[in-house]
This record gives sequence, structure tokens and C-alpha cells, in this order.
Amino acid sequence: MPTRNLTIALAGNPNSGKTTIFNILTGTRQKVGNWPGVTVEKKEGTIHRFDRRLKIIDLPGTYSLTPFSIEEIVARDYILLEKPDVVIDIIDASNLERSLYLATQLRELDCKVLFALNMADMARSRGINIDGGKLSELLDVPVMFTVGNKSQGIDALLKAAVELADKEKNSNSTRKVRYNKDIEHSIGVISESIGRHFGETLSFNTRWTAVKLIENDSVVREHLLAMDTRAAEAVLTEVQAQRTTLTNLYDEDPEILATDERYGFITGLIKEVFTISPGKRVDISRNVDLVLTNRFLGMPIFFFFIWAMFQTTFTFGGYPMAWIETLVGLLSTALSNTLPESLLKSLLVDGIIGGVGSVVVFLPNILMLFFCIALFEDTGYMARAAFLMDKVMHLIGLHGKSFIPMLMGFGCNVPAVMAARTLESKKDRILTILITPFMSCSAKLPVYIVLAGTFFGPRAGTVIFCIYLTGILLSIGTGRLFRKTLFRGEEAPFVMELPPYRVPMAKSLLIHMWDRSKIFLRKMGGIILAGSIVIWVLSAFPRAVVYDHDYAMDRTRIHQLYAEKAAIASPSEMGILAEQRGAALGKVDRAENTERIEKSYMGKIGKFIAPVFKPIGVEWQGGVALLSGFVAKEIVVSTLGVLYAAGEEDGDDALPDALRRSGMTPLSALSMMVFVLLYLPCLATVSAIRRETGSFRWMLFSIGFNTGVAWFFSLLVYQGGKLFGIA
Ligand code: GDP
Ligand code: MG
Repeated sequence: MPTRNLTIALAGNPNSGKTTIFNILTGTRQKVGNWPGVTVEKKEGTIHRFDRRLKIIDLPGTYSLTPFSIEEIVARDYILLEKPDVVIDIIDASNLERSLYLATQLRELDCKVLFALNMADMARSRGINIDGGKLSELLDVPVMFTVGNKSQGIDALLKAAVELADKEKNSNSTRKVRYNKDIEHSIGVISESIGRHFGETLSFNTRWTAVKLIENDSVVREHLLAMDTRAAEAVLTEVQAQRTTLTNLYDEDPEILATDERYGFITGLIKEVFTISPGKRVDISRNVDLVLTNRFLGMPIFFFFIWAMFQTTFTFGGYPMAWIETLVGLLSTALSNTLPESLLKSLLVDGIIGGVGSVVVFLPNILMLFFCIALFEDTGYMARAAFLMDKVMHLIGLHGKSFIPMLMGFGCNVPAVMAARTLESKKDRILTILITPFMSCSAKLPVYIVLAGTFFGPRAGTVIFCIYLTGILLSIGTGRLFRKTLFRGEEAPFVMELPPYRVPMAKSLLIHMWDRSKIFLRKMGGIILAGSIVIWVLSAFPRAVVYDHDYAMDRTRIHQLYAEKAAIASPSEMGILAEQRGAALGKVDRAENTERIEKSYMGKIGKFIAPVFKPIGVEWQGGVALLSGFVAKEIVVSTLGVLYAAGEEDGDDALPDALRRSGMTPLSALSMMVFVLLYLPCLATVSAIRRETGSFRWMLFSIGFNTGVAWFFSLLVYQGGKLFGIA
């Protein structure tokens, strides 16, 4: 009686097409989350086929199952402990040799495994010929051919997987990877010892456990020790003896021996099943790489692409941004006109629409940025960019790969921090995460535009460019500092993978883009909504304000004055008079508003924190704006607007005029910009840092360190500037 519920796991090298096949199989019925305890993405989906309920899991992409990276541990633990009914190994057929390392390891694991030779089209176009029947026979594994991006062979693959699940447990162990006779002897001795001490209690395959112990696999060792310490110690003594024997025999670590043996096995396998048609070996990827990673051309081309990306993001993103701004404006006006004057209305219009609306307008930019990045990734260019930046990044003691998160930091730090996941070593990951917030994100740009535009006139562009540059230099500087102090040691060695160039698939581009934007939207939406409400509450309460000035009296006087004027005015002057009266009344309203805000909780907080900001030349209003920027950097500008421009005439120039009159100088504006560039990351980023580093401490460190650096540099700018008489 076949079981109705089956679990099918997709394993494979990165870029072999796992996610593509996963998407075809599960369609929209997928759930994305994290593997418990680690920051590796977990995708699963459940479908109903062949009268079964099939749970499909997309395992992290790995090249092997050694416990060296989180991805490998996650994939291996899943197969070992969760025991899926079938594991489909997605193999890039155009890169057979490289893929077979994982394939042989899966075969050794004694799970039910099925090979999908994907990218069959690419293999064919390169003249590669794989004898699937022979491969299947040699390894006793069903082999199917698929072309993921054209949905070819996927149905047959699923069918084969279900059939395999229904079959009796395999198989003939002689068809598995065999080692030389000395290693096989050690395997035998250790297997026997495991059998003696653990009997049937061990949930792993015995032969596999023996091989892993010979390879000194710490995870397996710990697992045995946790099960039964005494038994494990007895087995481990035997293992140590065997390892010593092997080391003496070959003058080589047993783990290296085992790896060599596996490669030898693979070389043999390749000879049997792999042929290539002569004359068809023109490798397009290699030719393209001659140009794109050229010593002289590579960098200019790379900078051109980056420039084009920002151009696309900000120029083309500007149009939909304007539409959304208009929509938000319309919504806000409609609500103000229809709702009666009340606290609820103020909450809706000033708090929620004002706050969330100011962030939603960035959605097109974000979508476009992520689209460009998905394009770089899916075509294979991102790996080349990392390759090119490798030398520069080594200055910080990091790899070229760390450059990708930093680059994304210009857009938004949240996905940038998440992009650090691809780094193998935890040290590298945390270091990259810590220096990424110095890359000036797009939300800070409005602040620079307002401040530099107001105080530096035609030189604003240069000033903003220098601010960006300062961020980059500081991120390199702190990177070096951290590498020398907190993260001492070498960067983890790794081979830069250069996957072949591919024409990206629209669907996969959109999915990649949307996956990231969705997280951004959800997190930002929640946090920004909450933050906007908090800021609104702080500025709207307490309601009962005792004013120092009698505004009602002012209004009465204005009404009287204009009534008198109207009495003696000619009909043609009436319009002008009404306008003047409106302006005068507006001025009173805004003066009242200014006083109210000064006496609100926000004003009180501002006065309280003012001493901290005094030395860097920022007034209490600026201090509050900076504080509110913790929620999201965009809010800095709107808070400045609320605090400074409240008593001003309406119009586009309201805020700049108010700022100029407030006593702010170019120097203090510069100091404030430096502070905005460097100080604590926004709430969404901070929570991403916590999630991705898995540690509260690193989050607090990042907040404290960045704010400290910001304050120090602003102080340097402001006091230094004053010293040299630049006011
Ligand atoms: P993963 O890293 O294993 O999840 O790989 P993806 O599913 O993200 O696929 C990497 C790239 O290979 C994508 O651009 C796919 O469109 C492409 N791809 C997937 N399957 C095939 C295939 O059979 N043939 C070709 N030519 N491209 C494919
Ligand atoms: Mg994938």
C-alpha cells in the first residue's frame, strides 16, 4: 500500500536550476521561510499529483555535503534527519564533472536519490553527450533529462520520483562509491565497531557514518557522542587508530585521501558516460569573459553597468514615483475634505498617510533596483562583478563577494544585509553586515537634497557626491579596523565560481525581484506604520496646551481689520483683500502650530536631547528629526518640515526658507548631513541585522558604533569648521 504523503527534496549545486524546477513543480503554492536557527532561505510547497500529497523542498545549493558552510549543513541535516522519501539531485549537465561530487556524496548517503540532468539544452549545444543509461546503471540511480527553463521533462521527473519512492528500499551497496582497499578495510573495521556499540539504535547508515568518521566529520562525531557517550568513545578510539594507520600508510590526512578517492571515482565515471563532439567546443561564455573580466576593460564596463543601474532606478523610477506621490496626495486631500475635524482624521492624514505615504513612493525605485540586480545575477554578471572587485575588497580583508551586499546598500540596506547570506564564513558575513550601513542608502538622498540644495546652491551636487564618497571610504576604513581587531584572521579561502552566462528567464527575474521587494514592503510597511503613528502621537499630544500667546485674539483682530478695509474697498479690490486675509490667518495658524509642537511630547524630547546635538551644531528640531530617522530615513525630511516649516507660507520653498531663517549655517547643514550618512541604521535594517547575525549583541554594537562614529565625524566637521572660520 503506497503512502499518500511523500516528501521530495531538491538538492544540487548552486545555479543548477533547482529553484527553476521547484517553481515549475509548485507554481504559486510555495512558502518561503528560513531553516530553523539559521539564515538560509527555505522554500517548500505542497502539490497534489498522482493521487498523492507531495511536499517539495528546495534545499540550499551546495557543491558537497561536508559540514563547511551553513548551506551544506542544512542540506545534509535535512536529508539525514528529516529523511525525505526521495532526493532529486539537479545536475547541471553542461557541468557534469563538477556536479558529480555532490551526486556521489548523495549516493553514499543511502537515501533514495534520483538524478535530473538539467540544462540538457546547454549540454547539447556545447556538443556534450551524456550516456544517461550507463550513468544510471553504474550508480544504480534513475537518471532523467530536463530543461528547466522550458519546462521539459519535469512531469516525467516527478513521476520517476514517485515511482522510486514506491520501490523497495535499494540497493546493492557494491555500486556505491568504492574506496581503495586500505580505506575499505578501515570502513569495515569501524562499521563493525559501530554495529557492536550502537546496534540498531543509530539512525544513520552505518557505512556512511564510518566514512564520515574517517573523514573526521565533527557533526557526525557530536551526534554519536550525544546519543551515547560511552559507546561513542569506544567507536572513536577505533576511528583514531584507523586514521593513524591510514595517515602512516599514505602520509596524507584521511579526509584528503577520501576526497581524492571520490574524485578518482568521478574521473572514471566521466570516462564511461561522457563524450564531447569535436568542433563544437566554442565556449561563448569564455569569449564574453575575455572582454568583461579583461584587466583594462573590465572595470570601466563594470562602472558603466552600475551607472546605468542607478540611472534606470532613479530616472525611470522617477515617473511612477511621481504618479504614486500624486495618488497619495489625492487620497490625503480627499480625506481631509470629507472627514470632520477630529483626532482620528489627524491620525489618518498626518500620521498614517503622511508617514507610510512618504515611503510607499520609493516602491518603484526599489522594484527597479532589484530588477537590475536580479538581471545581473541571472545572467551571471554578478559573479564577474564580484571577481573584478576582489582586489579592492582584499584591502578590507574581504572577498569580492562581499561587494554585492555593499553595492545593494546604495539602494536599501535591508536587502543588502540579507545579501550577505551568500558569504560562506560567519566572520565575513558579520563584517560585511557591519560595514554595509555606511553605504548611503537611497532614503538618505532626500535629506541631502534638501540640506545641500538649501545651503550649497550650485555646489550641492559636489557636496552630495563627497558625502557618498565619505561613506564608501569609511566603510573601507572600518572594515580594515574590524578585520584587525574584532575579526582577526584571514578571509575564508574560496574559489570564485564563474557560472556560464545565460539569457535570463523573465519569470525567474520577476520572481527574484518580487521575493526581495515583498520582504522589503512587508517589513517596511509594518515598521513604518507603527513608527509614523508613534511620531504622530508624540507631536499631537498632549492635546491641552497652555499657549503663551492669545491666537484667538489675533484672529479676531484680523477679521476686524479686513472687515473695515472691505467696507471702504471697491468691488475689484475685494478678491485681493480676501487673499491677504487668508494669508494672515494662515500665518497665525502656523504660529500656533509651532508653539503647540514645541509644547508637545516631541518638543519636550527635543529640548531634552538638545545638549547632545549642540556640539555638532544641530538645533533641537534637527535632533528630533534625526531621532525620528531611526524609524526610516525618509522621515527625517518630513519631521524637519513639521518642526521648521510649520509657521511658514505654503509652497515649494517653505522648508528651505525656514531652514535658512532658523539660524542653520552651511557648516551645521554639512555636519547634519555627515551625521545622517553615518548614524544608526533604520529600524528595518537594525532588525535585519539582528536576524542575519542571529545576535542581539551585534545589533546593539552596530547601533552604538555607527552613532558614535557619526557623532565624532560631525563634531570634527562642525568644530573643525568653526576653528578655521568657515561658518
Ligand atoms: P538554482 O541556483 O539551482 O536555484 O538555479 P536557478 O533555478 O536559479 O537557475 C539558474 C539559471 O539557470 C536561471 O537563469 C534559469 O533560468 C536557468 N536554467 C534553469 N534550467 C535551465 C535549463 O534547463 N537550461 C538552460 N539553458 N537554463 C536553465
Ligand atoms: Mg535557488
